[in-house]
Amino acid sequence: MALGSPMFRKLLLTALLLIMVTVVMLDLLLSRYTVSRERSRTQSHLATEAAILAGEAEALTVGGLAAWTRTAAQRAECRVTFIDPGGVVLADSEADAAAMDNHADRPEVAEALKGRRGESIRRSESVGRELVYVAVPVTVEGRGGYVLRLAVPLHQVNTAVAEVRRRLAEASLVAGLLALGIAYLWSRMLTNRIARVKDFAERLAQAQFAGTLPPGPDDELGQLARSLNSTAQQLRDVMESLRLESARREAILAGMVEGVLAVDHELTVTFCNQAFARAVGARYPVPERLPVLELMRDPSFLELLSRILVSGEPRQQRLQLAAAEGHSFRVQASPLDLKSGRGAIAILHDVTDLERLERVRRDFVANVSHELRTPLAAIQGYAETLLNGALEDSDNNRKFLEIIKAHAVRLNQISSDLLALSQIESDLSVPPLERVRLREVIDAAVRSVEAEAGLRGVAVHHRGEAVDGTVLASIVGLEQVLVNLLDNAVKFNRPGGEVWIETGTEEDGTTRIVVADNGIGIPSEDLPRIFERFYRVDKARSRAVGGTGLGLSIVKHAIERMNGRITVESQLGRGSRFTVLLPAG
Ligand code: ADP
Repeated sequence: MALGSPMFRKLLLTALLLIMVTVVMLDLLLSRYTVSRERSRTQSHLATEAAILAGEAEALTVGGLAAWTRTAAQRAECRVTFIDPGGVVLADSEADAAAMDNHADRPEVAEALKGRRGESIRRSESVGRELVYVAVPVTVEGRGGYVLRLAVPLHQVNTAVAEVRRRLAEASLVAGLLALGIAYLWSRMLTNRIARVKDFAERLAQAQFAGTLPPGPDDELGQLARSLNSTAQQLRDVMESLRLESARREAILAGMVEGVLAVDHELTVTFCNQAFARAVGARYPVPERLPVLELMRDPSFLELLSRILVSGEPRQQRLQLAAAEGHSFRVQASPLDLKSGRGAIAILHDVTDLERLERVRRDFVANVSHELRTPLAAIQGYAETLLNGALEDSDNNRKFLEIIKAHAVRLNQISSDLLALSQIESDLSVPPLERVRLREVIDAAVRSVEAEAGLRGVAVHHRGEAVDGTVLASIVGLEQVLVNLLDNAVKFNRPGGEVWIETGTEEDGTTRIVVADNGIGIPSEDLPRIFERFYRVDKARSRAVGGTGLGLSIVKHAIERMNGRITVESQLGRGSRFTVLLPAG
């Protein structure tokens, strides 16, 4: 892998370029140095040889010069020339002396003719190549002024330079191979580290934040690895808090009383909580990516969602769902901007209870107005009759005033019952519950209805073993309850009828107080409604006995506030039985 990597090629190329530049410069410097060193070495060698040969030449004769020149040239391995004081070449080891021109003007010869050693490097006419010359003055046959000149071709110098270059080439080859090896190792190490960093960064991009990257040496790559590690840590933290946040939201949405449904642009369910599934009669959890049509088929709801998808405007609507019979919902639907397109979210509020309460409130207002209208109209009518002259009608004026009084008393009853009811309903705080002795409350309640019972010829008894016990109740509340129940039992009775208060204990320990009578009884179809406000089985009879239709409503509320329950059984013509259950004290 390292060999093919661009980094390896770049590193290698740089190293080779450096080597080449170094080699070229070295070559330049070394060849110059070698050339000058070789020249001076050659010159000094020639000078030494010349000094030796000059010593020998002093013993020669002019006639023997030619022969000596040749042998001397062989020994000294160079060209040897002998020149007379006039510059005429007397002998030459490599050329025909006779054919050679006068050499007095040659720089080295001219110098030697002046008695000094002469040196020069130049091209030789007679040999046709560059030579290094050294000439020294020589004495032959006791006469000075002769010149002995030695010369070697410069190609020996070139051989030396070539040798230097060969070594340089060898060294460059070794350096190149070394550079190749180092570049390979270096790039392999770097490539491996970079590959690790790359892999890690790719995993981060694919949202895989696990693991850390070994940072390695503290160079740029190490710093990069460290910052990637801290990025991964931060991403892990962010993901964790997002996960927590979304889990929290899911839990809130799942546990909401309101139904929540989210769909995408294709009306596919992306979220549905339990309350929604329950409202549409679907099984929970809803399978993922379920088309909403398979979840529910209510056209008005589907149309609402489709409209949101098209318009992007939030909407509210009241509707009823086929699966939730008798329930009414208010749907709050809003657009949901998703990556794939516009989706929608719908929140389903069950407003059945609210609607019922609204209805009850409306009915209540209508009932109150209706109840008030009759006595008020009567009072107004009789008052006007009196004012219009009946006041002087001694036969009737008293009767009329009696009627006005009776209606005023009724108005008073209605208003005090309403007041009692509204107090019980509006006082949200539970009345202080205490241990109440049953006997005391029952005796007090019986005393309150005794007069009325006597008038109607109804006997009131109480029996039961629990009467000496206590219950956890509000003394005022419990007395109100018992008085109302006893009052009804007496009122809706016949002369000679009986009323019983029975006390007992249930299996679970709660105390039972029963108010039973053998009076007129309640038709079974009216039984479920008698605890409603203003509900009366026989309005005329109820009015005649001074009833307002609010008594049982007050009873039910008061008992519930004391954590109790009340039930009723009745048979028309045979009597009724109201059972109150209260926690024992
Ligand atoms: P009211 O002021 O008319 O007594 P209640 O709320 O106390 O109003 O009772 C509602 C209706 O239930 C009465 O009008 C009556 O028709 C019926 N009812 C209540 N108690 C008895 C009972 N013991 N026997 C027969 N009917 C009863």
